[in-house]
Amino acid sequence: MPDIRPTVGSSALVLNATYEPLCVVSVRRATILVLTAKAECVSDGDGILHSAYQNLPVPSVVRLTRYVKVPYRTHVGLSRRAIFARDGGRCAYCRGSAETIDHVFPRSRGGLHAWENVVAACAKCNHSKGDKTPAELGWRLHSIPQAPRGVAWRVLGHRTPDPRWADWLDLPAAPAEPAAEAA
Ligand SMILES: [Zn+2]
Repeated sequence: MPDIRPTVGSSALVLNATYEPLCVVSVRRATILVLTAKAECVSDGDGILHSAYQNLPVPSVVRLTRYVKVPYRTHVGLSRRAIFARDGGRCAYCRGSAETIDHVFPRSRGGLHAWENVVAACAKCNHSKGDKTPAELGWRLHSIPQAPRGVAWRVLGHRTPDPRWADWLDLPAAPAEPAAEAA
């Protein structure tokens, strides 16, 4: 097994034989797929893996050599990280930095724990909202909460994509890096 310590923690995108994105795996797993000829490397990552027999570029995107039929998960799991990712880490009410999850129609009054009823919220808005609805407070949501859709969500979930995967995931252009704050 090649020494992959320098890249532990990084991940690789797996494409089906048809180039359709399937899932994200560890670089270790992707390397094993390539070494066992179950996949070919389509896009190299950073660095070279050294083994006793060969040197191999770290894979960033691999393509399976044989087509696999995969039953798709049609729903994205509802988790705190996924909600924050969907809402861009912003409070649904004031657009401030979100720290909590709020149920738009309060759970105490029968509101569902579902994509359509949860939003990221700052602690201040969440606290002052209490068990009221936005309508009762005269508040407006910046957008209607919905379940995330699309191939990128299905494959990535809350993960941050490697820019090298953009071609296969049909990702929107990356937002500009925020300017570093002056110390
Ligand atoms: Zn807020």
